[in-house]
Order: sequence, then C-alpha cells, then structure tokens
Amino acid sequence: MRPDKKNLTTLSAATLAVHGGNVIDTTTGAVRTPLVMANSYLLPDDPSTMDWSSPDGLVYTRNQGHNQVCLEKKLAALEGTESSVVFATGVAALHAVFFTFLKSGDHVLVSDVTYEAVWRLFAELLPERYGIEATFVDMGDLDAVRQAFRPNTKLLHTETIANPTTKVADIAALAEIAHAQGALISVDATFTPPPFFRASEHGVDLVVHSLTKYINGHGDSMGGVVLGSTQMMNHIKHDALVDLGATISPFNAWLIMRGSVTLPLRLKQHLSNAEKLAAYLESDDRIAYVYYPGLASHPQHELAQRQFAGRGFGAMMAFAVKGDPDTQNRFVSNLRIITSAVSLGHDETLIVHVGAEGRGGFDKYPKEFQEYGHLRLSVGLEDADDLIKDICLALDETFK
Ligand SMILES: *Cc1c(COP(=O)(O)O)cnc(C)c1O
Repeated sequence: MRPDKKNLTTLSAATLAVHGGNVIDTTTGAVRTPLVMANSYLLPDDPSTMDWSSPDGLVYTRNQGHNQVCLEKKLAALEGTESSVVFATGVAALHAVFFTFLKSGDHVLVSDVTYEAVWRLFAELLPERYGIEATFVDMGDLDAVRQAFRPNTKLLHTETIANPTTKVADIAALAEIAHAQGALISVDATFTPPPFFRASEHGVDLVVHSLTKYINGHGDSMGGVVLGSTQMMNHIKHDALVDLGATISPFNAWLIMRGSVTLPLRLKQHLSNAEKLAAYLESDDRIAYVYYPGLASHPQHELAQRQFAGRGFGAMMAFAVKGDPDTQNRFVSNLRIITSAVSLGHDETLIVHVGAEGRGGFDKYPKEFQEYGHLRLSVGLEDADDLIKDICLALDETFK
C-alpha cells in the first residue's frame, strides 16, 4: 500500500499499527521510515526572516524532526485524535500539559492516587515555585469532585487506572463534570493504551501516555506523548517543546515506531495473561490481597467492565504475600522468570516491591497496601502457565 493511497480514518487498529505514520523513503525506496539522525535540515533559499523557534516544518530537531513527525502520526492514528506531540519521556509529556495550560493563580484537581512525579509536581513544585494550587480528590467520588471545583479551576487530571493501586476512574463522567465547569481534562492513560482504551473517545481533551511502557513495549527506550486537537497540540509544541526542550531523540522515536507496530497484538497477550495471573493469585491462600480491575472483588470492577467494554482490564496488578517486608523481598528473590525492576508494559514480566510508607498520597491507598506494602506486577508476554508456576514455586520456597 503506497502512502498516498492510505485512508487512515477508515482502518482498524491492527492495520493502523502497521501502516500508520510509515513513510516510504523517496530517495532510496526503502519501505520503512528511515532513521534520520540529523539535528538540522536544509533551509529555504531565503531563510533570513524565518522563525527559528517554529515547530512547523523541518528546521531544527528540537522543534521537529522526521522521526518525531512519523511517530506522532502513528500515535494519533492509534488513539484516534487529530494530532499528537512526542517528548523524551512520559513525565516530560505530563509536564508539557501543565506548563502549557496552567499559570500562576490557577487551580487544578488531581486524583489523590497518582504517579509519583505528578504527585510531587502538584504537592510541592508547582504550588511553591509557580503559585499553581492543587487539590487532591478521590476521583471515584463524583460529588466530591464537583464540590472541589473553584472559579479558577482550569484542569482536572487523573489516570484511567491509577499507578499503583489500580483504582479505575470513570473517564466519561469526569470529562462531563470538568467541561460543565469550563475546565479541561487531562488523562494519563499509560496503563490503558489504544486500542484497549481510547480516552479521547470519552471526552478527554489531553491524553498522555508514557511511551516507555506498553507503546514501545520492549523496555529499550523512553518517550512520552500528548494527544488531542491540532489546535491544542500546536499550543503545546510552541510553548513546551521548543522552549522547554525535552525532545525525544530520533533513534528513540524510531524504536518506539517499530515497537508500536505490534501493540494491538501484544495487548491481547498482556490482557489475557493478566486475567489468568490475577485469578491464580486470588486463589492462593499465601497471598494477602490482590488488586486487579478484572477481579469481581475489585472496588471498581463493574465500572471497569463497562468502561473497557469487555476488551479486558489492563495488565497491571498489585498484591502482597502474607508476611512482613522481608517475606515480600524473599518471595521476589525466589522468582526465576519474573524480573525485579521498575517500569512496566515490557515484553518481560516485571515486579517491584514498594514499601508500606513514604509515598505521596499513601494515606489514600487501600488499607491492605498500608499494612503489607505492595508488589506491583506488570504482566508480560511469557506463557501464563510458566508465570504461574514461577510464582507458585517462589511461594513454596518462601514459606518452606
Ligand atoms: C511510567 C509512568 C509515567 C512516566 O513515564 P516516563 O516515561 O518514565 O517518564 C507516567 N505515568 C504513569 C502512569 C507511568 O506508569
């Protein structure tokens, strides 16, 4: 299929993941988008009046580069938005949203369970240094959310499935509330990548993903993206890409472009493996608790069923083995296949033992998290039975 014959709007996710953004190289005829490591591009005949800080066109790679543009097109096609902007990391993408759309004196509503860097931004850095006020709210309590709005509330920020407690937010309901109050809604959808979930179809103005996680999927590069309308993405490019400079390297953009080709395929395995592992963990009486939106015992199980329309429940879960922190550590060190490392959404299954104290917003975590700490599990692409066996044998070893 030649690029000029592609009508991306009518295609399904599996096709978009393969063809979206890919540009056949006109010089060589190479059928895959080449890696362009140049940091600058040939200027027009009369460059004397050009705006060097414009992200429009290819001039300087901090502003815009060939591999960035191709990746942005692929991701916008997958998420179903008009446009997107890619960044060096997920945190840079989040910061770009806050930097572009907030100013001193503005107020923000933030989920009371949120990614650690976002917590610190809104609990300390943005209020103390820039006079931006934030209220942390339970996004599951829609009346509390409504009541927390102030005349100067500009933004509501939440995660679809919260890192690390797996609390699920009702995105459509929150978008409606934010818009009724004249505010924007941004959603960190890192735990729920497309085509599993498209936050933009539920009224979200600004969708953010850490590309480091599922979208690249291979644990070998970092990136972030904001997706939304062309108008808002241009605003972000002008304010928070060119002048903050957290530009993704062309090589990482190229790697993520390659990794994301198999995203729809990989997600099927992630999601089905996770359901099997969660069911096993819940059935083993050496496990103290399991939080996974696919379990009937999860507080937002019904919301998750409705919101994710039967496609699955993500592939992240939190649990603990019965015992003290040493027991959690011994269990992790007894695992043979599952790797102890941060990050998530990789091909390999990852586990991280997070202690019972000292996290931002920790007092809002479910009581089991406060009692035992938790093991955050990112279920990978291995065979589910091998993973279950790995956990079972590590438990035998831990409790022998
Ligand atoms: C990892 C993560 C981020 C940050 O992404 P980086 O690429 O590490 O900067 C943000 N939000 C969530 C939910 C994450 O899991």
